[in-house]
Amino acid sequence: MSNERITYGPVEGLRAGRYGLGLNLKAACYRIGRTLIDTGPPNQWRAVRRFAIEQDEEHGIDRVLLTHHHEDHAGNAARLRELLDVPVYAPEKSLDRLRRGISLETYRWIVWGRPRPIEAEPVPESLTLADGTSLRTLPAPGHTDDMVCYLAPAHDLLFAADLYVTRRPEYLRMDEHAPRLIESIHNVLEHDFDTVLCSHQGVVEDGRQALADKVKYMEALCGVVRRRYRYDKLAVPEITDEILGREGMLYWMTGGDFSKHNLIASCLDEVADASAIVD
Ligand SMILES: [Zn+2]
Repeated sequence: MSNERITYGPVEGLRAGRYGLGLNLKAACYRIGRTLIDTGPPNQWRAVRRFAIEQDEEHGIDRVLLTHHHEDHAGNAARLRELLDVPVYAPEKSLDRLRRGISLETYRWIVWGRPRPIEAEPVPESLTLADGTSLRTLPAPGHTDDMVCYLAPAHDLLFAADLYVTRRPEYLRMDEHAPRLIESIHNVLEHDFDTVLCSHQGVVEDGRQALADKVKYMEALCGVVRRRYRYDKLAVPEITDEILGREGMLYWMTGGDFSKHNLIASCLDEVADASAIVD
C-alpha cells in the first residue's frame, strides 16, 4: 500500500487507500491555506493523521470542510476535530446523515472502513482563505444529493469531490442520478477554474476540459439511450448490453451497487413522464 502526497500551487494533498483488483480505491484530502477539505476513509486514519498534524504544524489548520457524507470523504472528520480542535463544516443536506450515520453496504466498510458520527455545522456559501482570497461553495448534486464542490477562483482551482472521477463513466451507483450530474457539471463550468482537484484522481491539470469531455460523453450517452428506449422500444437491459456490454468486476464486487444498468436506467430518469406515455 503506498499513499501519495500531492503538492500543487498553494495546495497540499494526500491520496490514501488500497489498490484492489485493478480498481482505484484511493481517496484524497486537500489543504489550502488553513482549510482542510475532506478527511479520507476511516481505514486510512494513520496516514490522514500524519498528514493533518504536519499541515497543522506548518500552517495552523483552523477548519475542516466536507464535500458530502460518503465515508471516503467524511470518514475521519470526527477524529480530526478531536485531534485539531477545529470546527467541521458540511453541506446542509449532509448534516443529518453525518450525525446519525448511514448503513453501509458490506463492500463499503471493507474498502473504506466505518466512519464515526459527527455533529458538523452547515458550510457557508463563501469563506475567506488565509491569503484573503475566497472559497465558494457550489452545490453539485448527482453523485449524491448533498454534494458540493469548492471553488478557489483566485487560484483557478476547483475541489471537485466526486463530480469528475472519470471522463467516460461506465457504471453508476444506485443513488446517483445522471441528468442531475450533467446539470451540475454545466453549472460548475460556468465558473472560472482550470485545474480540478479530484477526490480520486488527484490533480487533473486540464480539469475544465476533462469535465467538459465528461458532460459531452454523458449527454451523448443519454441521447442514444432515450432514442433506443422511446423510439426503438428497447428495454433497459437490452440497451445496456448493446452500449456497455455485460456487467463487469465492479458490479460483482459491490453487490450491484455500481452497475452499467444503473447508468443506462438513470439516463431515462429525466424523461420518466414521457416514457410512461410511450409505454
Ligand atoms: Zn462519494
